[in-house]
Amino acid sequence: MPFVVTENCIRCKYTDCVEVCPVDCFHEGPNFLVIDPDECIDCTLCEPECPAKAIYPEDDVPAGQENYIALNAELAKAWPVITTRSEPLPDAAEWDGKTGKLDQLQR
Ligand code: SF4
Ligand code: SF4
Repeated sequence: MPFVVTENCIRCKYTDCVEVCPVDCFHEGPNFLVIDPDECIDCTLCEPECPAKAIYPEDDVPAGQENYIALNAELAKAWPVITTRSEPLPDAAEWDGKTGKLDQLQR
């Protein structure tokens, strides 16, 4: 069961998660990260690293965010791998915890 990045990562992108992943399955877009479900080995290491609490096991994705399961799979094929931490987006704190951010996702 792979892990999934959900809505609260949009416009946050703290990237604390990527350095702990032993199999480099995070992929980076302009303002969101996704996990490649074909590479994730379910090690659980990334989940507690995310200050935005945006990472969940696939079976535990919050109600209403199930669409992020397919979105992670789709965007992981399109976006490059990220393995080192980078600076969060400048307005990350402002967007943390906001809901209804899917229309903010840049591809
Ligand atoms: S730490 Fe959380 S919010 Fe930050 S990039 Fe990773 S999944 Fe997204
Ligand atoms: S659960 Fe492990 S393998 Fe999967 S994305 Fe997180 S750190 Fe990587």
